[in-house]
Amino acid sequence: MPVPPPAQPVFRFAPSPNGLLHLGHALSAIINHDMASAMGGRFLLRIEDIDRARCRPEFEAAIFEDLAWLGLSWERPVRRQSDHLELYAAALERLRDMGLVYPSFMSRGEIKAAVAAAEASGQAWPRDPDGTPLYPGRERDLSASEQEALIASGRPHAWRLDVAKAAGRLAEAIKWRETGAGPAGEAGLIAADPAAWGDVVLSRTDALSSYHLSVVVDDALQGITHVVRGRDLYHATSIHRLLQRLLDLPEPVYHHHRLILGADGTKLSKSNGDTGIAAFRAAGRSASDLRATVLNAT
Ligand code: GLU
Repeated sequence: MPVPPPAQPVFRFAPSPNGLLHLGHALSAIINHDMASAMGGRFLLRIEDIDRARCRPEFEAAIFEDLAWLGLSWERPVRRQSDHLELYAAALERLRDMGLVYPSFMSRGEIKAAVAAAEASGQAWPRDPDGTPLYPGRERDLSASEQEALIASGRPHAWRLDVAKAAGRLAEAIKWRETGAGPAGEAGLIAADPAAWGDVVLSRTDALSSYHLSVVVDDALQGITHVVRGRDLYHATSIHRLLQRLLDLPEPVYHHHRLILGADGTKLSKSNGDTGIAAFRAAGRSASDLRATVLNAT
């Protein structure tokens, strides 16, 4: 029997066009690109623009310009998430059919007030790995007819994943293979902890898919074998692995790389104009200078 050739590795850099790319994005794109070259793999670029309120075409154009200036090449056509909203809706529908998502009608203000009320009574309210208070509602307990009546009345709502119920469905604990490192140096086979996020939002009336849902659908559809991204997304992997298991999607290897911090020790943001790739270029510095700067930054 002929032995099938090993699958070709597939990498992706997946920025959101909601601002200019900074040096941290450059590091991520370069690591992806270099790992793909070293492993004889493919390198894809994906535009994660589901947040229509914040993403703009001029930022997308700037992503192409900055990456080309860096000397990176990627396959075309480039996948743009806003072109595929129906796929994320279908994935949500599947989870709904499995009884694992429920409509949540609490507004952001109501959620904030509920957490503040709990904390005012002396209770330390749990926070997710990003520091956001966990969803305090009990809307998962609404009956089907209560849910239907509220939806029919036109109340805006989000669809939340019932994380405890979803995790309880799985026969074995969820893990992932980490070839980079987590914030505390975690590496190797990592036990996922989706409960740390509470009942995450997978879709809203005003934003038809969430980052978590669209990223796992697209990584599977694009055959991504290696997810290489910044350590700030390390904990999100717990939710991604849970969604992959629920939706029967393949499991990529994960590699979380270090972040480049600003002079004040905080994470770079897209509004930090002076740490942008475009600003670096405008200052007359070269692409090889940028490559050396980000690869040597500690
Ligand atoms: N779109 C995400 C970001 O710009 C990255 C998603 C990922 O690599 O999983 O932060």
